[in-house]
Amino acid sequence: MKNLIYLVAIVLTATVGCKKSDEQANPNGITCTRNLCQIYADMRNWEIDHHDKPPYLLSTNEGGVMELVTEKDGMRQNPHLIFQVMSNELVNPLLLVCPQDSKTAAKDWQHLTDANVSYVFPTHSMSNVIMQCPVDGTVMLDDGTVWEKSGRHSMKF
Ligand SMILES: [Zn+2]
Repeated sequence: MKNLIYLVAIVLTATVGCKKSDEQANPNGITCTRNLCQIYADMRNWEIDHHDKPPYLLSTNEGGVMELVTEKDGMRQNPHLIFQVMSNELVNPLLLVCPQDSKTAAKDWQHLTDANVSYVFPTHSMSNVIMQCPVDGTVMLDDGTVWEKSGRHSMKF
């Protein structure tokens, strides 16, 4: 119970911090940074109900997708499955497409494929990058920090 309260506090803090910090940088538009920030908060929310693990580290027997997103060439395969299993938290598939990407968002979660997802999950064991955008180089670290390629430290949860 104590852990649950702690996690809820983190998620609430994360969501508020995300919005405030990124709106100062770009008050009018959707940004890659904002997408990654929101995905991080939603993923943490999902983990609260799933043994504090992200979907790619949790077996399908426990509601995750670990067996379906095996590693190849330093990346987890089928990233859309990772997002699909978290659809209740993520709400809108639009979140999965970087505004700089030519990919288009899925119209609903049932039709989601990798063609509707900009973001990838690297598996480098020496890195703390959870997710990255291959289009503009924005990365999300395991502590919830989002960095743009320019080196701008966009936010810290
Ligand atoms: Zn991007």
